[in-house]
Amino acid sequence: MLSKMECKKCGGEVVKAGFWDTMYRGRIQRYRCNKCRHQSVYGGIYHRYRISEATIKQILALHRQGKSLRQIRDKIKIVSHVTVANIVKHFQHRIRTK
Ligand SMILES: [Zn+2]
Repeated sequence: MLSKMECKKCGGEVVKAGFWDTMYRGRIQRYRCNKCRHQSVYGGIYHRYRISEATIKQILALHRQGKSLRQIRDKIKIVSHVTVANIVKHFQHRIRTK
């Protein structure tokens, strides 16, 4: 499922480094770079959107408060409203099936 894994920072080889418990995705695999020790989650939504889990949580919290996609975008300045829509869609599904 996941393609070749290399460190986002230095391009070094990454190895599995235990699990990361997240509020929205449950338990996900975490990886660590052998070279620079940078820890990350690869192949998931965080990687795809290049934003942090904290930002995603913030987006979902605002969405649940009834804020529009554009209002959320204005608050979280680093994302477009399309990205906000994608994130909401992606995680809503997971929250319901939890
Ligand atoms: Zn690295």
